[in-house]
Amino acid sequence: MKKLSGIAVTSGVAIAKAVVLNSDGLQMGVSYCAPEQVNDELKLLENSLRTASAEIRECHDDVANKLGNGYAAIFEGHLVLLQDPNLIQTVKDGISNEYFTAEYAVYATLTSYAQVFQRIQNPYMAERANDILDLRKRLVRILQKGKHQSQDFDEPVIVLARNLTPSETASMDTQFVRAFATEIGGPSSHTAIVAEGLHIPAVVGVGSFLKYVRMGDLVIVDGDSGIIIIDPDEATLEHYRNLLQQRESLNICLDMQRDFPAVTLDGETIELLGNIEFPHEAVACQQNNAYGVGLYRTEFLYLTGKHPDEEDHYAAYRQVIDAMKGKPVTIRTVDLGADKLLDRSMSIPGSQDNDYFIEDEKNPCLGLRSIRLSLKRVDLFRKQLRAIFRAAYYGPVRIMFPLVATLAEWRQARMIAEDVKEDLMEGNEPFNPNVPMGIMVEVPSTVLMIDSFAPEVDFFSIGTNDLTQYTLAVDRTNMDVFYLYNSCDPAVLKLIDWTLKVAKQHKKQVSLCGQLSSNPIFTMLLIGMGLRKLSLAPGSIPEVKRVCRHVVTRQCEKIAERALKMESATEIQNYLWAEYQRLFPDLDGDAY
Ligand code: PEP
Ligand code: MG
Repeated sequence: MKKLSGIAVTSGVAIAKAVVLNSDGLQMGVSYCAPEQVNDELKLLENSLRTASAEIRECHDDVANKLGNGYAAIFEGHLVLLQDPNLIQTVKDGISNEYFTAEYAVYATLTSYAQVFQRIQNPYMAERANDILDLRKRLVRILQKGKHQSQDFDEPVIVLARNLTPSETASMDTQFVRAFATEIGGPSSHTAIVAEGLHIPAVVGVGSFLKYVRMGDLVIVDGDSGIIIIDPDEATLEHYRNLLQQRESLNICLDMQRDFPAVTLDGETIELLGNIEFPHEAVACQQNNAYGVGLYRTEFLYLTGKHPDEEDHYAAYRQVIDAMKGKPVTIRTVDLGADKLLDRSMSIPGSQDNDYFIEDEKNPCLGLRSIRLSLKRVDLFRKQLRAIFRAAYYGPVRIMFPLVATLAEWRQARMIAEDVKEDLMEGNEPFNPNVPMGIMVEVPSTVLMIDSFAPEVDFFSIGTNDLTQYTLAVDRTNMDVFYLYNSCDPAVLKLIDWTLKVAKQHKKQVSLCGQLSSNPIFTMLLIGMGLRKLSLAPGSIPEVKRVCRHVVTRQCEKIAERALKMESATEIQNYLWAEYQRLFPDLDGDAY
C-alpha cells in the first residue's frame, strides 16, 4: 500500500482500478507480460516498427512534395532512429529479460534515451530529444491501437496522469471515470473546475507518483482529504467502503430535498445558480433545481478544437436558454488565456487565431487574457455579442465581462456591445436590446474603484478564484505555492466585504461565482456578509442548500463579523469548519 497526498479539488471518494495516462494522453503504466508471451510481444514490436516506418516514409514524401526536401529531412532522422540497432536491442531486452510488454518497453527505452539528450543544455540536442519523444508517441500509439483507446473504458476506472488539460478532463466519460489524480496542477486550475462540474472526486498536485502505479492497480482517491492510496490494504479498503456508503445515504437525503427552496429559517431566499462550462450542463442545473445559470464560461466553446463562428455561439446559448426554461442565464464573454489556452495540437493551420489562443506568454495570468483579448480581437468579440443578443430574444439573459481591471475596459466593452445592437437593428434577426450588462470583480483594482463602477454597471459577480490569485500574487494553478492560495484569506474577505457594502449603497446586485460558493463550509460566512445570490457547481447545490435551510441570517452575520476580525486564512477556516460541524454534528446525513 502506498499513501500520497496532494491538493483536494473535488470532494468525494472513489475506489477503482487505475488507468495511467502519460503526458501524450496515452494509457501508460508499467505493464508486464507472462514469460510465454515474450515471443508474441517481440512480434508485436517488429510489426509496429514496420508500420511506423511506412507511416514516416509517407509523411516524408508528403512534406517533401509540399515544402521541399529540407523540411522532409526531419523524418529521415526519425527513420534513422527507428533503425538504430542499439535502441531496438534495448527495447527487445526489456521484453525478453524484464518481461515488459512491447508498449512499455518502447515507452521506457525511448523515454530514457530522450532524457539523455534533454540533460545536455543545447538547442540541437533538445530537438533530438523531441524527435525521440515523437517517435515514442507514434510507436506506443501503433502498439496500443486495437488494444484500447486512451479514453475508451468499459469498466469503472480512476484516471491517473501527469497533468490533464481542461478539455481532456471535460472529455472524460463519467460513466466509467470515477475519479482522477494528477502529478501537477493547482487548487483552482480550470482542470479542477471542470472536475467539479463533472462532480467526480479529484486530487491534483500529488507530485511524482506515476512510477509507483501499474495499469489495473486498485486505487482510492479521497477528494475530501486530498489523498490517494495505491494498492490499499484490507482495513483501509473497509474504511473507505464505509465512507462511500455514508455518502450514498447523504446523497439520497439531499435528493429528497431537491425541490425545496433555498430559504433560511428566518425566510431569506438565497438564490443558488449553476456554474457551467458546456451547454449540456444546463441539464445538471435543472436536475439540482438551480435558480438559473449564474456563470456560463463560454471560452470552453474554443477549447474543444474548433474556433466557433457566430452560429456556433448562438446554437450553444440557445441550448442553455431553452434548457433553463425561462430561468435567468448569465453568459460571460470569453475568458481565454492563463490556464485556459488551446492545446498546440488544436491549432488551425493558417489561422491567425492561433497566435492569440496558444501564445506562449512569459506571464500569462498578467497577459493578454479575458476581456483584454476580446478588446484586441474585436471581430471575435462582436461575433460573440451578436450571438448573445440574438439568443437573448428567447429567454432572460445577462452579459458579463470577465477580468475587467479598469473603467476604460468596461466602457469600451459596453460601447462595442451598444454598437453591435445598432448593427442588429439594421438586420432582420430577432434580438433583445435590453440585456443587463455587468462585470466580474476579480482584480483588486476593480474593488478599489468599485464606487466608480457601481453607477454604470447593472450587476457585479465576484470571482474569488482570480481575486485570490491577484490579491495574494499566487498562481492559482501552481502546486508549489498552493499553501498561499486560500479564498478565505482575510485580505480577500475584506475585498469582498467592501464590494458588497458599496454595491448595496448603489442598490446594485452582487453574486459570488468563484469556487468559494461551492463549499458548504463557507455558506454561513457568505450569507452573513450579505450575499443572497451564489453561483456554484450544479452538483454542490444540494449541500449548500442544506446549510441555507438550517440557519438564520443573524447567526450568519455574527459568524461573518467574527471571521472578518481574524488575521489568517487558517484561523478563519478552522472557525468556519467548527461552526459547520456545530450545525451538522452528525455529518452522515441524519441532520435531516
Ligand atoms: C473566478 O475567477 O472566480 C471565476 C469564477 O472565473 P474563472 O474561474 O473562470 O476564472
Ligand atoms: Mg476568473
